[in-house]
Amino acid sequence: MSSLEQMYQQVIMDHAREGHGRGLADLNLVQVGESHQVNTTCGDEIRLRVGLDGDRIESVSWEGQGCSISQASVSVLHDLVEGEDIAEAEAAMEAFRDLMQARGEELGDERDDLLGDATAFVGVGKYPARIKCAMLGWAAFKDAMIQARKDQS
Ligand code: ZN
Repeated sequence: MSSLEQMYQQVIMDHAREGHGRGLADLNLVQVGESHQVNTTCGDEIRLRVGLDGDRIESVSWEGQGCSISQASVSVLHDLVEGEDIAEAEAAMEAFRDLMQARGEELGDERDDLLGDATAFVGVGKYPARIKCAMLGWAAFKDAMIQARKDQS
C-alpha cells in the first residue's frame, strides 16, 4: 500500500469513528426532508435529515449503522454540504458520483479540490460492490433534499 493510500485509509477510519453530523437534529425550519436508505448487499443503513433555509442547507444530520465506508462517507458528506448553497452541494454530489465511476482514478480537474476529504474514497471506485456503500449517504441526501423542497408549507 502506498503512503497516499494509507493516508486515505486513515481519513476514512477517522470519519467512521467520529461520525460528523451523527444524531438526528430537531429542526425548527420550514423546509425539512428526511430519507431512509438501506444497502442490503452489505447491511448498511442510513436515515438522513436536511433542513433548508431558502437556497442554503442549514442542517444535515443522520443516524446509521454498517461498514466503515458507508458511515465515513456520510460523515464526509455532512462536512461538505452543511452550510453551503444548494448549487454547491449539487456540484459536490455530481463530483463524488463521477469519482465513484472513475475506477480508482482521481478526477484530475478542479473538482478534486471541491471534494475535500471525499477524495479519500477514490480507491473505492475499483470495487463495484463497495460503491453502493460509499453512495448510500449521498442517495439519502439527494432524496431528503427532494422531500425538503416539496415541503414548502
Ligand atoms: Zn457497506
